Amino acid sequence: MSFMGSPDHPPGKGYNNYGVYLRGRFGGRRVFKVIVDAGFTCPNRDGSKGYGGCTYCNVDSFTPELPRSLAAIRAQIEQGIIRARENYHAEKFIIYFQPNTNTYAPLATLRTLFDEALTICPNDVVGLAVGTRPDCLDPAKIALLESYAKHLMVDLEMGMESIHDATLLKLRRGCTHRDLVAILNQLEHSPLNLCVHTVFGFPGETREMMLAYAHEINRFPQLKFVKLHHLHIVAGSIMAVHYQRQPFKLFELAEYTDFLCEFLPLLRPDIVVQRLFGISDWNLLVAPNWGLKKVRIQTHLDQAIKRRGIIQGSRFSP
Ligand code: SF4
Repeated sequence: MSFMGSPDHPPGKGYNNYGVYLRGRFGGRRVFKVIVDAGFTCPNRDGSKGYGGCTYCNVDSFTPELPRSLAAIRAQIEQGIIRARENYHAEKFIIYFQPNTNTYAPLATLRTLFDEALTICPNDVVGLAVGTRPDCLDPAKIALLESYAKHLMVDLEMGMESIHDATLLKLRRGCTHRDLVAILNQLEHSPLNLCVHTVFGFPGETREMMLAYAHEINRFPQLKFVKLHHLHIVAGSIMAVHYQRQPFKLFELAEYTDFLCEFLPLLRPDIVVQRLFGISDWNLLVAPNWGLKKVRIQTHLDQAIKRRGIIQGSRFSP
Protein backbone atom coordinates (compact mmCIF):
# COMPACT_ATOMS: atom_id res chain seq x y z
CA MET A 1 0.00 0.00 0.00
CA SER A 2 1.14 3.52 -0.60
CA PHE A 3 -0.04 6.87 0.54
CA MET A 4 0.22 10.54 -0.32
CA GLY A 5 2.47 11.38 -3.20
CA SER A 6 2.61 7.72 -4.16
CA PRO A 7 3.35 6.89 -7.79
CA ASP A 8 -0.05 5.11 -7.76
CA HIS A 9 -1.65 8.46 -8.36
CA PRO A 10 -1.21 9.98 -11.79
CA PRO A 11 0.38 13.40 -11.50
CA GLY A 12 -2.19 16.06 -10.79
CA LYS A 13 -5.20 13.76 -10.55
CA GLY A 14 -5.38 13.02 -6.83
CA TYR A 15 -6.99 9.67 -7.52
CA ASN A 16 -6.22 6.57 -9.55
CA ASN A 17 -7.84 7.39 -12.83
CA TYR A 18 -8.79 4.46 -15.08
CA GLY A 19 -7.77 6.12 -18.35
CA VAL A 20 -4.32 6.82 -16.98
CA TYR A 21 -4.16 3.26 -15.63
CA LEU A 22 -4.97 1.80 -19.07
CA ARG A 23 -2.40 3.95 -20.84
CA GLY A 24 0.21 2.87 -18.31
CA ARG A 25 -0.70 -0.78 -18.65
CA PHE A 26 -0.81 -0.82 -22.46
CA GLY A 27 2.26 1.21 -23.31
CA GLY A 28 0.52 4.54 -23.88
CA ARG A 29 -1.92 3.11 -26.44
CA ARG A 30 -5.45 4.48 -26.61
CA VAL A 31 -7.63 1.71 -25.22
CA PHE A 32 -11.38 1.80 -25.75
CA LYS A 33 -14.21 -0.34 -24.39
CA VAL A 34 -16.50 -1.77 -27.04
CA ILE A 35 -19.90 -2.53 -25.55
CA VAL A 36 -21.72 -5.64 -26.65
CA ASP A 37 -25.30 -6.54 -25.83
CA ALA A 38 -25.46 -10.31 -26.05
CA GLY A 39 -29.16 -10.55 -25.31
CA PHE A 40 -28.92 -11.62 -21.67
CA THR A 41 -31.72 -11.09 -19.22
CA CYS A 42 -31.45 -10.96 -15.45
CA PRO A 43 -32.94 -13.02 -12.61
CA ASN A 44 -34.55 -9.88 -11.28
CA ARG A 45 -36.52 -9.47 -14.46
CA ASP A 46 -37.38 -12.95 -15.65
CA GLY A 47 -39.15 -13.99 -12.46
CA SER A 48 -36.55 -16.28 -10.94
CA LYS A 49 -35.87 -13.59 -8.33
CA GLY A 50 -38.33 -10.92 -9.31
CA TYR A 51 -40.14 -9.11 -12.08
CA GLY A 52 -39.66 -5.53 -13.16
CA GLY A 53 -36.03 -5.27 -12.10
CA CYS A 54 -34.28 -3.24 -9.42
CA THR A 55 -36.27 -0.08 -8.76
CA TYR A 56 -33.63 2.24 -10.26
CA CYS A 57 -33.15 0.17 -13.42
CA ASN A 58 -34.82 0.98 -16.68
CA VAL A 59 -35.24 -2.48 -18.02
CA ASP A 60 -36.72 -1.11 -21.24
CA SER A 61 -33.48 0.60 -22.10
CA PHE A 62 -32.00 -2.84 -22.73
CA THR A 63 -32.74 -4.46 -26.04
CA PRO A 64 -35.59 -6.84 -25.21
CA GLU A 65 -34.57 -10.45 -25.58
CA LEU A 66 -32.15 -9.94 -28.45
CA PRO A 67 -31.86 -13.04 -30.54
CA ARG A 68 -28.56 -14.42 -29.38
CA SER A 69 -27.05 -14.79 -32.80
CA LEU A 70 -23.32 -14.98 -33.06
CA ALA A 71 -23.50 -12.97 -36.27
CA ALA A 72 -25.30 -10.15 -34.43
CA ILE A 73 -22.69 -10.12 -31.68
CA ARG A 74 -19.88 -10.17 -34.21
CA ALA A 75 -21.46 -7.26 -36.09
CA GLN A 76 -21.81 -5.18 -32.90
CA ILE A 77 -18.17 -5.68 -32.02
CA GLU A 78 -16.84 -5.07 -35.51
CA GLN A 79 -18.89 -1.88 -35.87
CA GLY A 80 -17.92 -0.75 -32.36
CA ILE A 81 -14.25 -1.16 -33.19
CA ILE A 82 -14.60 0.76 -36.46
CA ARG A 83 -16.43 3.61 -34.69
CA ALA A 84 -13.88 3.77 -31.89
CA ARG A 85 -11.03 3.88 -34.41
CA GLU A 86 -12.65 6.60 -36.49
CA ASN A 87 -14.06 8.78 -33.72
CA TYR A 88 -11.55 8.33 -30.90
CA HIS A 89 -8.41 7.09 -32.64
CA ALA A 90 -8.59 4.01 -30.46
CA GLU A 91 -5.79 1.50 -30.96
CA LYS A 92 -6.64 -1.33 -28.56
CA PHE A 93 -9.99 -2.66 -27.37
CA ILE A 94 -11.67 -4.23 -24.40
CA ILE A 95 -14.80 -6.19 -25.30
CA TYR A 96 -17.34 -5.22 -22.66
CA PHE A 97 -20.40 -7.40 -22.09
CA GLN A 98 -22.37 -4.71 -20.29
CA PRO A 99 -26.18 -4.65 -20.42
CA ASN A 100 -28.06 -6.96 -18.07
CA THR A 101 -26.43 -9.91 -16.28
CA ASN A 102 -23.73 -11.31 -18.50
CA THR A 103 -23.15 -14.57 -16.66
CA TYR A 104 -26.82 -15.46 -16.43
CA ALA A 105 -26.83 -18.33 -18.93
CA PRO A 106 -25.59 -21.91 -19.03
CA LEU A 107 -21.84 -22.35 -19.05
CA ALA A 108 -21.74 -23.68 -22.63
CA THR A 109 -23.62 -20.61 -23.87
CA LEU A 110 -21.23 -18.28 -22.10
CA ARG A 111 -18.24 -20.09 -23.54
CA THR A 112 -19.65 -19.86 -27.07
CA LEU A 113 -20.41 -16.15 -26.74
CA PHE A 114 -17.11 -15.13 -25.17
CA ASP A 115 -15.08 -17.35 -27.53
CA GLU A 116 -16.80 -15.84 -30.54
CA ALA A 117 -16.29 -12.28 -29.29
CA LEU A 118 -12.61 -12.90 -28.76
CA THR A 119 -12.00 -14.17 -32.28
CA ILE A 120 -12.61 -10.65 -33.60
CA CYS A 121 -9.58 -8.49 -34.16
CA PRO A 122 -7.40 -10.64 -31.88
CA ASN A 123 -4.27 -8.56 -32.40
CA ASP A 124 -5.92 -5.44 -31.03
CA VAL A 125 -8.28 -6.85 -28.41
CA VAL A 126 -6.45 -6.67 -25.10
CA GLY A 127 -9.24 -7.33 -22.66
CA LEU A 128 -12.62 -8.77 -21.82
CA ALA A 129 -14.94 -7.10 -19.29
CA VAL A 130 -18.07 -8.78 -17.98
CA GLY A 131 -20.75 -7.08 -15.88
CA THR A 132 -22.89 -9.26 -13.64
CA ARG A 133 -24.62 -9.76 -10.30
CA PRO A 134 -22.81 -11.49 -7.44
CA ASP A 135 -25.51 -14.16 -7.23
CA CYS A 136 -25.02 -15.19 -10.88
CA LEU A 137 -21.53 -16.63 -10.57
CA ASP A 138 -20.38 -20.13 -9.69
CA PRO A 139 -17.00 -21.92 -9.70
CA ALA A 140 -17.41 -23.19 -13.30
CA LYS A 141 -18.25 -19.71 -14.65
CA ILE A 142 -15.40 -18.19 -12.69
CA ALA A 143 -13.02 -20.84 -14.09
CA LEU A 144 -14.19 -20.01 -17.62
CA LEU A 145 -13.44 -16.31 -17.13
CA GLU A 146 -10.12 -17.11 -15.51
CA SER A 147 -9.16 -19.22 -18.53
CA TYR A 148 -9.23 -16.04 -20.67
CA ALA A 149 -7.10 -14.22 -18.14
CA LYS A 150 -4.09 -16.28 -19.27
CA HIS A 151 -3.95 -14.17 -22.44
CA LEU A 152 -5.97 -11.03 -21.75
CA MET A 153 -6.89 -8.57 -19.07
CA VAL A 154 -10.23 -9.86 -17.77
CA ASP A 155 -12.39 -7.57 -15.63
CA LEU A 156 -15.30 -8.92 -13.67
CA GLU A 157 -17.67 -6.14 -12.65
CA MET A 158 -20.27 -6.83 -9.99
CA GLY A 159 -23.12 -4.69 -8.74
CA MET A 160 -22.61 -3.80 -5.12
CA GLU A 161 -24.84 -0.71 -5.26
CA SER A 162 -25.21 -0.32 -1.48
CA ILE A 163 -23.55 -2.17 1.39
CA HIS A 164 -26.74 -1.87 3.46
CA ASP A 165 -29.21 -4.73 3.15
CA ALA A 166 -32.15 -2.56 4.20
CA THR A 167 -31.46 -0.38 1.14
CA LEU A 168 -30.98 -3.39 -1.15
CA LEU A 169 -34.31 -4.74 0.02
CA LYS A 170 -36.06 -1.46 -0.76
CA LEU A 171 -34.40 -1.43 -4.17
CA ARG A 172 -35.74 -4.97 -4.81
CA ARG A 173 -32.23 -6.07 -5.69
CA GLY A 174 -33.03 -9.69 -4.98
CA CYS A 175 -29.61 -10.23 -3.44
CA THR A 176 -27.85 -9.12 -0.30
CA HIS A 177 -24.48 -7.64 0.51
CA ARG A 178 -23.62 -11.06 1.97
CA ASP A 179 -23.93 -12.52 -1.55
CA LEU A 180 -21.28 -10.09 -2.76
CA VAL A 181 -18.99 -10.77 0.20
CA ALA A 182 -19.30 -14.53 -0.39
CA ILE A 183 -18.25 -14.22 -4.03
CA LEU A 184 -15.41 -11.82 -3.21
CA ASN A 185 -14.12 -14.37 -0.74
CA GLN A 186 -14.25 -17.07 -3.42
CA LEU A 187 -12.29 -14.77 -5.74
CA GLU A 188 -9.63 -13.92 -3.20
CA HIS A 189 -6.75 -15.34 -5.28
CA SER A 190 -8.30 -14.95 -8.69
CA PRO A 191 -6.37 -13.50 -11.63
CA LEU A 192 -9.52 -11.59 -12.61
CA ASN A 193 -9.56 -7.84 -12.11
CA LEU A 194 -12.47 -7.36 -9.78
CA CYS A 195 -14.60 -4.25 -9.88
CA VAL A 196 -17.61 -3.18 -7.84
CA HIS A 197 -20.26 -0.77 -8.96
CA THR A 198 -21.67 1.52 -6.26
CA VAL A 199 -24.40 4.14 -6.11
CA PHE A 200 -24.51 7.04 -3.65
CA GLY A 201 -27.68 8.82 -2.67
CA PHE A 202 -30.27 6.10 -2.23
CA PRO A 203 -33.22 7.33 -0.16
CA GLY A 204 -32.73 6.64 3.53
CA GLU A 205 -28.91 6.54 3.43
CA THR A 206 -27.04 9.15 5.45
CA ARG A 207 -23.63 10.56 4.59
CA GLU A 208 -22.05 8.29 7.19
CA MET A 209 -23.75 5.24 5.69
CA MET A 210 -22.34 6.16 2.26
CA LEU A 211 -18.85 6.93 3.54
CA ALA A 212 -18.91 3.46 5.12
CA TYR A 213 -18.82 1.99 1.59
CA ALA A 214 -15.15 2.99 1.42
CA HIS A 215 -14.27 1.02 4.56
CA GLU A 216 -16.16 -2.00 3.26
CA ILE A 217 -14.45 -1.88 -0.16
CA ASN A 218 -11.06 -1.44 1.50
CA ARG A 219 -11.51 -4.76 3.35
CA PHE A 220 -11.02 -6.70 0.11
CA PRO A 221 -7.50 -6.47 -1.32
CA GLN A 222 -8.73 -8.49 -4.31
CA LEU A 223 -10.79 -5.46 -5.42
CA LYS A 224 -8.86 -3.59 -8.06
CA PHE A 225 -11.44 -1.23 -9.56
CA VAL A 226 -14.49 0.72 -8.42
CA LYS A 227 -17.17 2.53 -10.34
CA LEU A 228 -18.69 5.31 -8.26
CA HIS A 229 -22.04 6.78 -9.26
CA HIS A 230 -24.52 9.25 -7.87
CA LEU A 231 -28.14 8.14 -7.93
CA HIS A 232 -29.82 9.42 -11.05
CA ILE A 233 -33.35 8.56 -11.94
CA VAL A 234 -34.08 7.19 -15.36
CA ALA A 235 -37.37 7.17 -17.20
CA GLY A 236 -39.04 3.80 -17.26
CA SER A 237 -37.80 2.74 -13.83
CA ILE A 238 -40.00 2.04 -10.81
CA MET A 239 -38.07 4.73 -8.97
CA ALA A 240 -39.01 7.28 -11.62
CA VAL A 241 -42.67 6.63 -10.91
CA HIS A 242 -42.08 7.06 -7.16
CA TYR A 243 -40.03 10.21 -7.75
CA GLN A 244 -42.62 11.78 -9.99
CA ARG A 245 -45.36 11.09 -7.44
CA GLN A 246 -43.29 12.29 -4.53
CA PRO A 247 -39.89 13.82 -5.33
CA PHE A 248 -37.10 13.09 -2.87
CA LYS A 249 -33.69 14.57 -2.25
CA LEU A 250 -31.00 13.84 -4.83
CA PHE A 251 -27.42 15.09 -4.99
CA GLU A 252 -26.82 18.54 -6.48
CA LEU A 253 -23.49 18.72 -8.28
CA ALA A 254 -21.88 20.85 -5.53
CA GLU A 255 -23.02 18.42 -2.84
CA TYR A 256 -21.80 15.42 -4.78
CA THR A 257 -18.45 17.11 -5.33
CA ASP A 258 -18.13 17.66 -1.57
CA PHE A 259 -19.12 14.07 -0.93
CA LEU A 260 -16.52 12.66 -3.34
CA CYS A 261 -13.88 14.89 -1.79
CA GLU A 262 -14.70 13.28 1.54
CA PHE A 263 -14.96 9.76 0.14
CA LEU A 264 -11.78 9.53 -1.94
CA PRO A 265 -9.35 10.10 0.95
CA LEU A 266 -10.96 7.12 2.72
CA LEU A 267 -10.60 4.80 -0.26
CA ARG A 268 -7.59 2.46 -0.40
CA PRO A 269 -4.95 4.20 -2.50
CA ASP A 270 -4.23 1.29 -4.86
CA ILE A 271 -7.83 1.00 -6.10
CA VAL A 272 -8.39 2.35 -9.60
CA VAL A 273 -11.49 4.50 -10.01
CA GLN A 274 -13.16 3.69 -13.31
CA ARG A 275 -15.91 6.27 -12.85
CA LEU A 276 -16.65 9.14 -10.49
CA PHE A 277 -20.31 9.62 -11.43
CA GLY A 278 -23.03 8.03 -13.50
CA ILE A 279 -25.31 9.59 -16.03
CA SER A 280 -27.83 8.25 -18.50
CA ASP A 281 -28.73 9.52 -21.93
CA TRP A 282 -30.48 12.91 -21.84
CA ASN A 283 -33.69 11.45 -23.20
CA LEU A 284 -33.89 9.05 -20.24
CA LEU A 285 -32.67 11.32 -17.46
CA VAL A 286 -35.45 12.37 -15.06
CA ALA A 287 -33.30 13.85 -12.28
CA PRO A 288 -30.99 15.31 -11.15
CA ASN A 289 -30.23 17.35 -14.22
CA TRP A 290 -26.98 19.19 -13.53
CA GLY A 291 -27.19 20.94 -16.88
CA LEU A 292 -23.76 19.79 -17.98
CA LYS A 293 -22.56 17.23 -20.46
CA LYS A 294 -20.58 14.23 -19.23
CA VAL A 295 -17.23 15.69 -20.16
CA ARG A 296 -18.00 18.96 -18.31
CA ILE A 297 -19.04 17.09 -15.17
CA GLN A 298 -15.81 15.07 -15.31
CA THR A 299 -13.77 18.25 -15.69
CA HIS A 300 -15.64 19.93 -12.85
CA LEU A 301 -14.98 16.99 -10.50
CA ASP A 302 -11.34 16.62 -11.56
CA GLN A 303 -10.71 20.34 -11.05
CA ALA A 304 -12.37 20.37 -7.63
CA ILE A 305 -10.36 17.34 -6.49
CA LYS A 306 -7.17 19.00 -7.67
CA ARG A 307 -7.94 22.46 -6.30
CA ARG A 308 -8.81 21.09 -2.87
CA GLY A 309 -5.67 18.95 -2.75
CA ILE A 310 -7.66 15.75 -2.33
CA ILE A 311 -5.54 12.59 -2.34
CA GLN A 312 -7.13 9.16 -2.61
CA GLY A 313 -6.21 7.10 0.43
CA SER A 314 -4.75 9.96 2.46
CA ARG A 315 -7.15 9.10 5.30
CA PHE A 316 -7.03 5.34 4.79
CA SER A 317 -5.65 3.29 7.60
CA PRO A 318 -5.09 -0.42 7.04
S1 SF4 B 1 -29.89 -3.28 -12.35
FE1 SF4 B 1 -28.99 -5.18 -13.14
S2 SF4 B 1 -29.72 -6.72 -11.71
FE2 SF4 B 1 -31.06 -4.96 -11.45
S3 SF4 B 1 -32.79 -5.31 -12.85
FE3 SF4 B 1 -31.30 -4.06 -13.94
S4 SF4 B 1 -30.08 -5.58 -15.06
FE4 SF4 B 1 -31.15 -6.70 -13.43
